[in-house]
Order: sequence, then C-alpha cells, then structure tokens
Amino acid sequence: MQENIIIAAPKTHLTWQQQLSMAIRDPQALCERLGLGSDWLAGAQLGHKLFEVCVPEAYLNRIAYADINDPLLRQVMPLGEEALTPHGYVVDPLEEAEHRPAKGLIHKYANRVLLIASPSCAINCRYCFRRHFPYSDNSPSRAQWQEALDYIRSDTSIHEAILSGGDPLAASDRQLAWLVEQLESIPHLKRLRIHTRLPVVIPDRVDDVLLAWLGKTRLQTVMVLHINHANEIDQPVVDACARLKHAGVTLLNQSVLLKGVNDCVPTLAALSERLFEAGILPYYLHVFDPVQGAAHFDVPDEAAQALVKQLLDHLPGFLMPRLVREIPGKASKTPL
Ligand SMILES: *Cc1c(COP(=O)(O)O)cnc(C)c1O
Ligand code: SF4
Repeated sequence: MQENIIIAAPKTHLTWQQQLSMAIRDPQALCERLGLGSDWLAGAQLGHKLFEVCVPEAYLNRIAYADINDPLLRQVMPLGEEALTPHGYVVDPLEEAEHRPAKGLIHKYANRVLLIASPSCAINCRYCFRRHFPYSDNSPSRAQWQEALDYIRSDTSIHEAILSGGDPLAASDRQLAWLVEQLESIPHLKRLRIHTRLPVVIPDRVDDVLLAWLGKTRLQTVMVLHINHANEIDQPVVDACARLKHAGVTLLNQSVLLKGVNDCVPTLAALSERLFEAGILPYYLHVFDPVQGAAHFDVPDEAAQALVKQLLDHLPGFLMPRLVREIPGKASKTPL
C-alpha cells in the first residue's frame, strides 16, 4: 500500500514587521508595481519629496492595476498637485502645537487625553493632516513618558487615554504593553482608545502578541479604525476585526470625506454596509482639514452636508456616521 506522504507547506507567511519593512517607499517602484505609465512619475516624485511614499503590499493588492482613479490608489499616490500652496491650506490645521502639557501628550478635550505612541505609520496617506508634523520632537522614551503619565495621574477628571500617532500600532508590542500597564495603574482611567489604520493596512498586525496585552487590560478598549472606502475591507481585514472583537475590543470607524475617494452617496453607503459586515460601527465622517499639499482632496462643506442628507435615505440610523469638523480651540469636534 502506498503511504500518504504529507509535505508541510513551506512557511511563506511574513510577520507584520517584515511586511512593513518591505513596503514600497519609492515612487518609481509604486508606478511599476501598479502599471502606471511614466506620465505619472514626475508628479509622483515631486509629491514624494514633500511627504515620502509608503505602501505595504497587503494594501497594494487591493488596488486595481493601471487605474489612476482607483479610490485606494488616490489615498497613497503622490501627485504634482501636492506642491501647490493655495491660500488657507496650512501646515498645522488643528493648531495642536498649542495643547501639549508634556512631551507626547495632547490635552485638548475634557476627560480625555491623546498620547502620541508612535511617530510613524505603516502607510503614508496623502491627505494626512499630520503630514508636516514634527514627529522627531514627539516620540518620548520611557523616562519621558513619566511626565505624561504623571500629568494624567494628577488630573482625576481624565477618564480616557487615546493612543494616537502617527499610528500607535506601529510601535512594538513591548512598548505598547508597557505603556498600557502604566495607564492601567491610574485608578481614574476607565477607557483605552486606539486610533489606528494598521489592522486595515497590514491585517497581520493583529497577531497573538498584540491580542495578548489587548485582551487582558482592565481598561475598556475601543479601537477606532480609519477606513475611507469599502474596498479597503478585504477578507484578511474582516478576519483581523473578528480577532479584535473576540478579545473584547469595541470597533468603530472614522473616515475622512475625500474628493475622488468617497465623495458620493453610493460609495459612502457601501462603506457603512461593509463596515457593519466586518463588525465595525461608523463613528465620524470628518470633513477634510485644510492641510497644505492636499487641497485636491477638499470637498466643500455644502457638498458634504448634501451628501450626508442623501445618505439618510440609504442607511439605517445606526450606520450613519456623524459629519464633523475639527475647529482649533473648540472643546469637541463640531457637528456640521
Ligand atoms: C478627535 C480627538 C479626540 C477625541 O474626540 P472624540 O470626539 O471623543 O472622538 C481627542 N483628542 C484629540 C486631539 C482629537 O483630535
Ligand atoms: S495612517 Fe493616519 S496618521 Fe498615518 S499617514 Fe495615514 S492618515 Fe496620517
């Protein structure tokens, strides 16, 4: 009798760190990988000089080949337009530089503070309002975190710590687990919120090491994913969300309303539907912050309001994101 010989499949699976280190960081490589003709290269190189390209393969493989209008491509493809400096588009549209009581800490809103847990991201989104952010000044060491932690400890009105960045999940799990352990020891803190795009960009980021510290914290944990288009939610993203939910994490989403990406009713409706299929509730739809280099993404307020009004006819109330704007100096986001 012939024996069944089972040959183990070679382990080709890359860790998230490997996937991140292999991300495309060069405009020419991006154009070649996606079959974009040389017409686009000069503009891409110009944009890249202002804010470097970064796209991991796990995200690239959701982008259509040779389609400059692909809604995911538009989010990552540098363009010559980024060199334009129209009036009113500025380097720090949220004036965050004004609210920093300690290194890495932003305290702008009552009851909650924002911690810049990682200076970098796994993807560079062209519309990012932090594209000019002085990150090198804002990534504290453990010793420097003490100042931020002492600040939180001394203010009992703070109930929620929000990990932000960059992308907080670009930090190592060792660092994050340490930071969360410190936060947990502050009795008046109830919630941990993580604003991240990493589970979407590289779904393998949601691995057992992450789930180990995330699943055991006493803090109620909310993850706000940043997804702008239904095409971003492929099966690996759905699976990553299921793992997060299993660990007890509440999943919300915030999108940015972006011209040429999601500024139409069927696209926004499909996004909400797809989010819910993945177990994520729509939270905010942000109007674009007027950051220099990204004016070509701007959707006027009246158009944004009209879109949301029409969207009401297509979605149940619980799948309607709140249309908001960030106004510097205001004590919360402002509904439009
Ligand atoms: C958006 C934001 C928050 C959180 O605001 P919510 O309305 O609670 O989502 C906190 N801090 C900063 C700096 C923010 O931009
Ligand atoms: S992941 Fe978020 S912070 Fe990072 S570049 Fe994209 S929008 Fe900006």
